[in-house]
Amino acid sequence: MSAFRILPPGLLLAALAAGHAQAAPAAAAPAARCPADAGWDTPSAPHHIHGETWFVGTCGITALLLTSPEGHVLLDGGTARGAALIEANIRALGFDLRDVRYIAGSHEHFDHAAGIAALQKASGATVVARAPAAEVLRTGRSGRGDPQYGVLEAFDPLPGEVRLIGDGQVLELGPLRLTAHATPGHTSGSTSWTWRSCEGQSCVDIAYADSLTAISDDQWRFGDEDAHPGYLAAFRRSLDAVAGLPCDILVTPHPSASDLLARIGPGADKPLAAPGACRAYADTARERLDRRLAEEEAGAR
Ligand SMILES: [Zn+2]
Repeated sequence: MSAFRILPPGLLLAALAAGHAQAAPAAAAPAARCPADAGWDTPSAPHHIHGETWFVGTCGITALLLTSPEGHVLLDGGTARGAALIEANIRALGFDLRDVRYIAGSHEHFDHAAGIAALQKASGATVVARAPAAEVLRTGRSGRGDPQYGVLEAFDPLPGEVRLIGDGQVLELGPLRLTAHATPGHTSGSTSWTWRSCEGQSCVDIAYADSLTAISDDQWRFGDEDAHPGYLAAFRRSLDAVAGLPCDILVTPHPSASDLLARIGPGADKPLAAPGACRAYADTARERLDRRLAEEEAGAR
């Protein structure tokens, strides 16, 4: 991974105080606010979300760092190029990638998972995933069981073991407790995560709800029971599950899906927490799925 020297001005003092005096001020710091035409690999400044939860992703792809005195958890690794931006953001906040103990994530597509191999190698962290996602992380390729199979990029396989986690199981590290929720549909391995975050006596539930978009390559039909029995029913259960997550603060793998970057950082102009955010997110996805199924019925797909 190349040595990035990016320090947003506001974070320079914090980083220096944290003993990172060797990091030079940036020639071109990532924008505090992302441009409207930002892509997956457009650098974003890191942002505090709540408590020990930090946004360390790019303008187009979320990565979250949950910190603790016993080490950190990283959720998602971005694209292959995005991994270096995530590492730079972790460093800019004054944290050390080598203190990341676990890397888990949303789903096994290259825009969220391709960077995991490099981040695992640099950190020595244990990668944790549900079984269908773990299989893709190990090989770097999805199979025909993925709705987007025909249009996906392969990525570097993970050389080491992936620790499996099941629906409802809790990933623990020091005071951190992240609950894994199986929410298949966008992919088979789609996983959402929830945790309680406290600032003093004030506690909230954060939900990292996975993508729920019913999109595919030209071959796949969500309504084709013969091709993939039970897939649609599982997808619908996921929509109900996400609607019911403990969810004061919704975070999504693509920041734009929950307007995340308008809710965090110095330029935030929308409330971070919103009652019913997960329910609204699931409702939007359900409408999209129903529209998609109607198109399939009509032969438009
Ligand atoms: Zn995806």
